[in-house]
Amino acid sequence: MSVLVLVIVSVSVLTFGYLLNMFYISVFYHRGFAHNALDVKPKVKKFICKTGVWVTGIDPKTWIAMHRKHHEHSDTEKDPHSPVNCKKPFDMFTVQFKSYSRMMVRLIKKDRIASSTVEDLGIDVHPIMAKGLWYLPYLIQIVISVIIGVFSHPIIGISYWAGIMSHPIQGWLVNYYGHHSGYRTFNLKDDSRNNILVGVLTMGEGLQNNHHKYPHSAKFSILRKEIDLGYYMCTAARAIGLISKVHVVDATADILKEKQNSLKSDQGAKD
Ligand SMILES: [Zn+2]
Ligand SMILES: [Zn+2]
Repeated sequence: MSVLVLVIVSVSVLTFGYLLNMFYISVFYHRGFAHNALDVKPKVKKFICKTGVWVTGIDPKTWIAMHRKHHEHSDTEKDPHSPVNCKKPFDMFTVQFKSYSRMMVRLIKKDRIASSTVEDLGIDVHPIMAKGLWYLPYLIQIVISVIIGVFSHPIIGISYWAGIMSHPIQGWLVNYYGHHSGYRTFNLKDDSRNNILVGVLTMGEGLQNNHHKYPHSAKFSILRKEIDLGYYMCTAARAIGLISKVHVVDATADILKEKQNSLKSDQGAKD
């Protein structure tokens, strides 16, 4: 295999793994189940909740409980993953991992407060997680990566692993930089930001300021310069019949209000 072919195949395989992970987490776990921004067909919901752990390594109920807590307590001490609770950007890896593990234990023990936030989902923590076998999906993905590597090239196998298991890196980018660096279109209580670069890298998830303003909208981009590829994944999923409705909020009136408010405060500063 020539170097050029190896590079093209490796990048394609990495992209495939990454998109598959994002399809589960950004489209279904996040927009569909955590915020009900999509009307997901019941059979599809069942399928995603059963297979999500095997594909991504992440339990849907735990992820959603943690994410709803993030929206409820954004950028406070109770936020499960805020830059305010990190000393350095890389601390986010341990902060989000510990919060996820703690939330899973609480849900398995049927902690009343934790469980009440995700009652509407009608699902349990996945049985393999409840049995302490959280590492099984990772082992299986390693085996798949090794098989791919043996029959093609080790770099292609590693690329598959990096793409399909990329969630901690996506989480780090979104959870840290989406609440730390970028601009604010909406003046909210939290410190959410719209980070264009993170937005592109994470299928729109870096547009946190827009998302915190309209959590029930499946489209995170509002301004022309903002790109939300995850939204197009949602529309593709609707086109092939997995989703019956994609909810999008019209932000025009609020954008106008924000502009008027900033004009008023600029005027106030001049006077
Ligand atoms: Zn956020
Ligand atoms: Zn959200």
